[in-house]
Amino acid sequence: MLKNCDVCGKVFAHPTRTLCEECYKEAQARFQAVKDYLQRNPGATVAEVAEATETDVDVIYQYIREGRLSIVPRDAGLQCELCGASIQIGRICSRCLGKLEQAAGKGPVQESRKEADDSKVRYLDQIMRRR
Ligand SMILES: [Zn+2]
Ligand SMILES: [Zn+2]
Repeated sequence: MLKNCDVCGKVFAHPTRTLCEECYKEAQARFQAVKDYLQRNPGATVAEVAEATETDVDVIYQYIREGRLSIVPRDAGLQCELCGASIQIGRICSRCLGKLEQAAGKGPVQESRKEADDSKVRYLDQIMRRR
């Protein structure tokens, strides 16, 4: 299938890409440069990364939103989707993650078992009283 490159407009053929071979390679190299820079400078800001790698700030934010960077710039503004706390990586902060794990794990099970025991005791109580 023939299409026009998103960047340079050149006609090319590829099933999934939106960039021609040249622009695709350039985009890959750019992403690699941003990733490498952050690995060497984990505390860098978006502006610093943009300047050092000659990459547009918007492009860096796009990488962050797409979750492609394992290390994000210090001021990337990544927030927990549940409580809004600022986080360095992922979509949910460790505190909310802990709560979710607790909710999915033993917490509620113990609760219902306790309730079952309580009603059993009450039932026995009734039987005892009847006698
Ligand atoms: Zn192109
Ligand atoms: Zn949270």
